[in-house]
Amino acid sequence: MFALEAARLTPKSAKRTVVVFAESKGKLTPAAQMVDEGTDGLIRATLRTGRYQGGAGELTRITLQNHAITQIIVAGVGKLSGMQRRDWWKSGMVIGKQFDALGVKEATIALGDLDTTDETFAAATALIEGIHMALYRFDQFKEVKEHQQPRFERLIIHTNTRTARQIEEETPRLAKLLAATDTTRTAANLPPNVANPEYMAEQARKLEKLGVKVEVIDEKQMKKLGLNLFLAVGGSAAPEDQPRMVLMHYNGAKSAKPTALIGKGIMFDTGGYNLKPSNSMGGMKFDMCGAAAVLGTMQALAERKAKVNVIGVMACAMNMVGQNPFLPDSVYKSYKGLFVEIGNTDAEGRLVLADAIAYTIDKFEPEQIVDLATLTGACMVALGGGYAGLFSTSNALANALAKAGDDTGERLWRMPVDDFYAAKTHVADINNDGSPYGGASTAAVFLKRFADKTPWAHLDIAGTSNVERGVNGTHSELGHATGFGVRLLTHWLENASAATEEGATPKRRRGRPAGTRAPRAATPAIPGVKRGRGRPRKNA
Ligand SMILES: [Zn+2]
Repeated sequence: MFALEAARLTPKSAKRTVVVFAESKGKLTPAAQMVDEGTDGLIRATLRTGRYQGGAGELTRITLQNHAITQIIVAGVGKLSGMQRRDWWKSGMVIGKQFDALGVKEATIALGDLDTTDETFAAATALIEGIHMALYRFDQFKEVKEHQQPRFERLIIHTNTRTARQIEEETPRLAKLLAATDTTRTAANLPPNVANPEYMAEQARKLEKLGVKVEVIDEKQMKKLGLNLFLAVGGSAAPEDQPRMVLMHYNGAKSAKPTALIGKGIMFDTGGYNLKPSNSMGGMKFDMCGAAAVLGTMQALAERKAKVNVIGVMACAMNMVGQNPFLPDSVYKSYKGLFVEIGNTDAEGRLVLADAIAYTIDKFEPEQIVDLATLTGACMVALGGGYAGLFSTSNALANALAKAGDDTGERLWRMPVDDFYAAKTHVADINNDGSPYGGASTAAVFLKRFADKTPWAHLDIAGTSNVERGVNGTHSELGHATGFGVRLLTHWLENASAATEEGATPKRRRGRPAGTRAPRAATPAIPGVKRGRGRPRKNA
């Protein structure tokens, strides 16, 4: 990550590139007003003449000569009072893209002071996350000319003293979380002739130095253990691309049953003998984004020494047409013992996940399971790139995940998981076939049979994990793999552990969980008296 500093905003402290925020109709925030005064009203004068309206995501740039400030980027936020943490994250991505386009080396963000210090801190960290994620690059296979080299090095956040101190304290943890999103994105962006199942096992082993215990189950052990669905999908790949189930154990809490995170890791999906049509096959290297998200989350938790026990499972295989194929109409005995009739070899994700889920429950009895998978095109049809589908047998689990999604911007929308959607079977206990109508729920119902009584949530991230297929989503600034899931899961698990540590009330680490609003009652607004800005203020 770039170097990060935080300091109190003063009328003279801004230099070089400065970012200020404006609301709709070009209304400047108090911090922007301070910069405006320091530049003899240039921002106001410029906004009066242009088309700029200060809408969310809108940007305009003002260049200055003979001034300590060389350029001002005015970032529109729409309505400041309604800004959630995820909106600041989104704004950060737009700003980060602009830094990259302009070749900015160092910038100051004039954030100032929002209604509470908690809100200010949440906004600042979300902006940093957004900027870092927008600056991520995946260019190891192409020539990068001198003028295209990454330039951004240093970010200064100008805010109140208290928030500045909080940001400086949080910086190392934030950097670890963001490095973990990079890990996920790079693993997902790598082509299938580089990133095969064994590659994911190697990435997991890199976490051993952080105290993560790694187990890798290869194709021979799968046969012995009866992971027949997993092997059916991955068995037709070349010898060096044979399937791997990678288990990562992280124990950051004393006792407590683990939470299991299980990711679909189809390193490439041809569809198998139900071969995908030619124009649907490109981008299928991203069919392992669930596994990549689990990898990044394990890295974040271990690096940040989270007080949780988690098992990360990556179900990695290549779905190929090969010498040892699994065919439609075949029947396999799953690890759980249920016989599965193959309705469609392209519905392979639920097969590897089914065995991974059943095995994890059998061996480790997790408290709860969350699986992540680029599972269905039907989920993309339903939700596009705005939300991942959330399917769950536990309201408490679903609500906690949805809340973490709202805070981080990796949003989830709950979908039905009724048995009504189950695929029809002919000769076995269950069939993996999908339907074009309600297909995301059909897939979820299939997985539910294997999760059985363990509280479980399934996140269908087909539309949110990458932007390759032109899905218009909240992550479109990011390009390629988005790292969806890492911030969501880390946030959820860390907040849950903070809550259990202090009994029923969430731990007030640095105020409330980021993105939540403080109750206003403690600092009532007095009519006619402006709430102080630009100064540190006590938490509401
Ligand atoms: Zn498939």
